[in-house]
Amino acid sequence: MSGNGRGAGAPALLARGLAKSYGQVRAVRDISIEARRGEIYGFLGRNGAGKTTTIRMILGLVRPDEGEIEILGSSLRRDRAGVLSRVGYLVESAAAYPKLSVLENLELQRRLTRSPKAAAGAAMETLGLEQYSGRLAGRLSLGNKQRLSIARALVHRPELLILDEPANGLDPAGIIEIRALLKRLAHEEGVTIFMSSHLLDEVEQLADRIGIVHEGRLVEEAEAADLSARSLRSVEIEVDDPGKAEAALREFLGLRAIERSGERALRVTDPLADPAAIARTIVGAGLGLSRLVAGSEDLESHFMRLTGGSL
Ligand code: ATP
Repeated sequence: MSGNGRGAGAPALLARGLAKSYGQVRAVRDISIEARRGEIYGFLGRNGAGKTTTIRMILGLVRPDEGEIEILGSSLRRDRAGVLSRVGYLVESAAAYPKLSVLENLELQRRLTRSPKAAAGAAMETLGLEQYSGRLAGRLSLGNKQRLSIARALVHRPELLILDEPANGLDPAGIIEIRALLKRLAHEEGVTIFMSSHLLDEVEQLADRIGIVHEGRLVEEAEAADLSARSLRSVEIEVDDPGKAEAALREFLGLRAIERSGERALRVTDPLADPAAIARTIVGAGLGLSRLVAGSEDLESHFMRLTGGSL
């Protein structure tokens, strides 16, 4: 799927400085994304964060006010049709035709994308839909509708697959199945997957790289493994003089992620935070240290802190 050589060394998806306003609403203020070939990129944010608007810009459905998009090494602005022929997508508005059967829907998609004869059957098989081949799409369960939508997105064997909230409408068993399918597509067949979600758990289980979007801005982008490791260290201290303590930690240990967590408490979530060094530095600076708790901040708390509140 990924082997036709065009733009081979380039990232699958590169967005720089995207911005989009709807009247007074600044849906996307500044979003840059880099998704590498064959990886699953989880675009994580709360409802209204700007995920759908970003995806619509990537698919050429909405024109950005600012910014550039490159897909598989080509500029979306300069070669929209050429670029999009290599992309598959699942967005809310792309539902299957309810009065056509599963196979008819896939066959229609095959003809629209001028794909080889066997493509509809192959997509049906990939999603395990053969037993529903003759069933009208409108009569499918929600989970199977979602499967059909993904099958349609895959008919022309795209190199980049864009999924807006793919877990929507699936029951837990369906979610597990789709998760396995997406992993196989990315890691065995080299399809790059860019998926949005407001479910941290979903992204954590699937993504190789995570971008966290909040109020139209990308507030963090990192390898999923790094993000988990980074989020796992936190040291909380109680001191006589938090201002001086913070200054000492910044100056002597080069720590950056320090915040007030109480009147006399500081929380350090820097990946370099080492409890022993923190204690030594505070005491060495002649400051009183009354409590030190080394703990862990899981990805969920990290996400909550970045996006300020509950999901
Ligand atoms: P959700 O998961 O709820 O769709 P999202 O992260 O996808 O959230 P967007 O749909 O991109 O967020 O919306 C970002 C902001 O832009 C919201 O405040 C939304 O109300 C606004 N917005 C989105 N589309 C339009 C539009 N066509 N006209 C006006 N405002 C819009």
